Amino acid sequence: WVAASLTKQHHPSSRFSGDSAAPWTPHFDVVVIGGGHAGTEAAAAAARCGSRTLLLTHRVDTIGQMSCNPSFGGIGKGHLMREVDALDGLCSRICDQSGVHYKVLNRRKGPAVWGLRAQIDRKLYKQNMQKEILNTPLLTVREGAVEDLILTEPEPEHTGKYRVSGVVLGDGSTVYAESVVLTTGTFLRGMIVIGLEMHPAGRLGDQPSIGLAQTLEKLGFVVGRLKTGTPPRIAKESINFSILNKQTPDNPSIPFSFINETVWIKPEDQLPCYLTHTNPQVDEIVLENLHLNCHVKESTRGPRYCPSIESKVLRFPNRLHQVWLEPEGMDSDLIYPQGLSVTLPADLQEKMITCIRGLEKAKMIQPGYGVQYDYLDPRQITPSLETHLVQRLFFAGQINGTTGYEEAAAQGVIAGINASLRVRHKPPFVISRTEGYIGVLIDDLTTLGTSEPYRMFTSRAEFRLSLRPDNADSRLTFRGYKEAGCVSQQRYERATWMKSSLEEGISVLKSIEFPSSKWKNLIPEASISIGRSLPLRALDVLKYEEVDTELLAKAVPEPLKKYTKCRELAERLKIEATYESVLFHQQQEIKEVQRDEALQLPKDLDYLTLRDVSLSCEVREKLHFSRPQTIGAASRIPGVTPAAIINLLRFVKSTQ
Ligand code: FAD
Repeated sequence: WVAASLTKQHHPSSRFSGDSAAPWTPHFDVVVIGGGHAGTEAAAAAARCGSRTLLLTHRVDTIGQMSCNPSFGGIGKGHLMREVDALDGLCSRICDQSGVHYKVLNRRKGPAVWGLRAQIDRKLYKQNMQKEILNTPLLTVREGAVEDLILTEPEPEHTGKYRVSGVVLGDGSTVYAESVVLTTGTFLRGMIVIGLEMHPAGRLGDQPSIGLAQTLEKLGFVVGRLKTGTPPRIAKESINFSILNKQTPDNPSIPFSFINETVWIKPEDQLPCYLTHTNPQVDEIVLENLHLNCHVKESTRGPRYCPSIESKVLRFPNRLHQVWLEPEGMDSDLIYPQGLSVTLPADLQEKMITCIRGLEKAKMIQPGYGVQYDYLDPRQITPSLETHLVQRLFFAGQINGTTGYEEAAAQGVIAGINASLRVRHKPPFVISRTEGYIGVLIDDLTTLGTSEPYRMFTSRAEFRLSLRPDNADSRLTFRGYKEAGCVSQQRYERATWMKSSLEEGISVLKSIEFPSSKWKNLIPEASISIGRSLPLRALDVLKYEEVDTELLAKAVPEPLKKYTKCRELAERLKIEATYESVLFHQQQEIKEVQRDEALQLPKDLDYLTLRDVSLSCEVREKLHFSRPQTIGAASRIPGVTPAAIINLLRFVKSTQ
């Protein structure tokens, strides 16, 4: 265990359970392989649940490394971060200590689909993550490359052909474990690509995992191949920012974590981002050099929603594509050109960059590159992320075909919890589609699989009005505390306080009547639509865009003043008011469907041509393909939305 001394040098203040006077016993409750975004969450979650956990990774100094973009969050991804945080996961808290530019995306739409996002200081994130991981009680960290799995007879009461009981490292040493979580990212048979050159690597500067990929294949796991890529990095001082559109951060910054009121840095001290665009010259360089670009020629599928510049030029020719120039950190000299992921030979990348406005004199410090890697068909895992084939073996992160730090973190926390629960013979911790985006992500993966890198969007969630970033704690923290034991007492108490304050606040807002003379001052526009001189409940007044809790409390200081003292509480009351009536109707519709769950669907219904009922093409195809017998069965088909079900239900009843 050379690594123990190595890691001690890097982190003199860290606590290592393996470097005390006690002899090193390589037997743990949970072993997590990989120190990326899935692995760190899995290891910390298992340890929080009370399991003696080992995190085994190639290099301790790359724990928490952001392989690609220096940012976290965004539309759908911000929701996942809030849910990870609600389960006391790490990434949101670490982002609040490392962000350099906070901006909520989708602000013009309702808060249910706001995308919390921040540019992150890479170096700081890694430092803070390593500090957190190396100081987590019950968690030991070691360097090493896992090459093989130790398998034993399966437990008779569970399905599965084998049971995992440990891992074998590259130097032949073994570690025994009750559960093992694999989070190897893009490293399984990873190959990096620039131009026509291909080299075995998990990402730039890191060795790939070949032995482990062979082991998994030999065991009978179905393996596929995916690809992704990253843009070049540019010297900051070589960019002419003065001619570009500047984007300033939000003021105030909204923290990612429920337990933070503010982030580590004031908005005025944060860094700006800049926007520029590609042009026809960029298209020309890409198209003229396709023969020098083997990543693009490969038939392997890449990320649809974060495509390379080559894919964009091929799919949408003659368009100007956005390039965001994003800071890599507070004291970094590098800029990350988001939107310019490319695998052309390095000299052509430089030529392409200098065609772009503001980048005419840009100096490329590191070329962009692509990576191709094995992933495992996620239909081979259960909703607890345990594999069907090997008992007590869990997969999380990019190995399951996803892309993105947040998707990886979300799976990591669930795998870590379940690996720990499995050791303690407790029932699995599963999040349903109605409870969280994590549930949507895992349900999509385990039931539908994926043939291209999967990323989260709000449109994937049927219940997005209730699965909001603001209320992830009320959806998940209590379950995490009671069923999994992964939530700290402090967080539990904070969530309990928030829940009771919200309930009390809503009931107070319902009980206060505003006479028309009073509400017309606050919402004069509304008198046109309401048009009557009726009193309104304070909760109804708060629904209007121009009213916030502060303004309402000015009109009725008692008893409303106390709800303005905590910024988060005031904002959440406003959001609850906004969605109250919509959610009430949604609840009524859910009840309507539940009442008629057993309603038989006519056998001869032709969903593809059916008129008089509003169904999207996607839903029609799914119903046509699955031919459910009842409304209940139809509602359980992934991707068939509640709105479609209610329309179908009402249509079928109208024909009876
Ligand atoms: P990783 O973060 O890759 O971590 C894997 C960890 O496992 C590493 O620490 C590695 O050292 C360790 N490991 C692997 N094999 C072994 C072994 N046998 N033994 C011990 N340790 C092992 N995401 C986006 O959303 N948008 C993008 O544009 C994008 N571009 C990307 C470009 C590149 C070049 C790369 C590499 C990734 C990109 N990603 C992108 C993906 C994003 O980085 C991943 O989705 C995310 O990091 C996955 O997290 P993970 O924990 O699953 O794996």
